[in-house]
Amino acid sequence: MSENKKIYDLVIIGFGVSGIYASLNASIRNLSTLVIESLPSYGGKLTNVYKEKEIFDFPGFKRIKAEKLADNFYGQIDLENEYITVKYNEKIITIKEEDNTFILSSNKDTYFSKYILITDGGGAFTPRKIPFDYSEIYYSFQPEEFLRGKRIIVLGGGDSAVDFASFASNYATVSLIHRRNDFRSSEQTLSEVKKKVEVLTPYNLLDVERKNNVFRVTVQNTESGMVNEIEGDAIFVFYGVELAKNSYLDLERTNGLINVTSTMESSVKGIYGAGDTIYYPGKVKMIASACSEALTAVEEIAHLVYPNKSINRH
Ligand SMILES: Cc1cc2nc3c(=O)[nH]c(=O)nc-3n(C[C@H](O)[C@H](O)[C@H](O)COP(=O)(O)OP(=O)(O)OC[C@H]3O[C@@H](n4cnc5c(N)ncnc54)[C@H](O)[C@@H]3O)c2cc1C
Repeated sequence: MSENKKIYDLVIIGFGVSGIYASLNASIRNLSTLVIESLPSYGGKLTNVYKEKEIFDFPGFKRIKAEKLADNFYGQIDLENEYITVKYNEKIITIKEEDNTFILSSNKDTYFSKYILITDGGGAFTPRKIPFDYSEIYYSFQPEEFLRGKRIIVLGGGDSAVDFASFASNYATVSLIHRRNDFRSSEQTLSEVKKKVEVLTPYNLLDVERKNNVFRVTVQNTESGMVNEIEGDAIFVFYGVELAKNSYLDLERTNGLINVTSTMESSVKGIYGAGDTIYYPGKVKMIASACSEALTAVEEIAHLVYPNKSINRH
């Protein structure tokens, strides 16, 4: 092992809400903490998948835009604090263990740590694409100024599609097309959407053409076989994301997610997980539970780093 490399108490992989909240609590507990984030900024899914969405189920806020909530999380950290270092645009590729120290290698450097907290959200994500390549096909939320007065075609049947259709319908004329009659989304948002949006189900996408700045989308009803054409100015596709799984170490997993104990420890002693990347019976993939898991893991790690110190939390 390198002689002059700093050994951190904790390296956190990923700076979504779990990673941000974990780093706040690690600094409160005086853990020297390094955070590595593969993207150029913080927030994870909140800022990269659904930044314009209004969140109404996070404690303390009646309604708050995802991007604003991520900003609030981030704003709570004191980056002048000597305990936290954050590095962006760096992806952890491998983890090894040597002499009771973890060695983490990124695409840029190597780091050493006593403990690791994986908050990588299940992996680096990219949107699942349709096989038509026009620059006016979007795979993420766009702001109000972009949508105003446009005819918008939304493809998909999950939370992102329905949430976006609901948001866009405040500013644009929206058609929502889904290949099934059932949606995988919140009942409340779906019933709001059905009042304001043209909902076309069950339709498969056959073709997309763009002429004179207008899209013509050809869809086929999977029950009647009838073919329809819908015109629009922009297409938004929410067919879910494909996760490029991280496989740093041979951790025990369930359906690809890291198995953890009640203290959020993985099958490798000293490596913990929190947020969307972990599995335990009853796990809920939500922001509030991600915070609680991050806190549990950091509390445990702080006890291991400072076994004789009582923690002043409040
Ligand atoms: C469309 C949609 C709507 C949702 N709506 C709500 C809602 O209304 N309310 C709610 O409570 N929850 C909602 N959720 C769930 C919520 O977003 C997640 O539970 C939460 O974002 C999990 O946070 P996380 O920090 O665990 O993961 P992420 O937000 O996924 O963050 C993980 C971070 O790790 C980084 N990373 C990945 N691999 C590496 C690597 N190898 N090295 C370095 N960095 C890496 C990623 O770039 C990312 O920034 C929604 C989810 C989706 C998809």
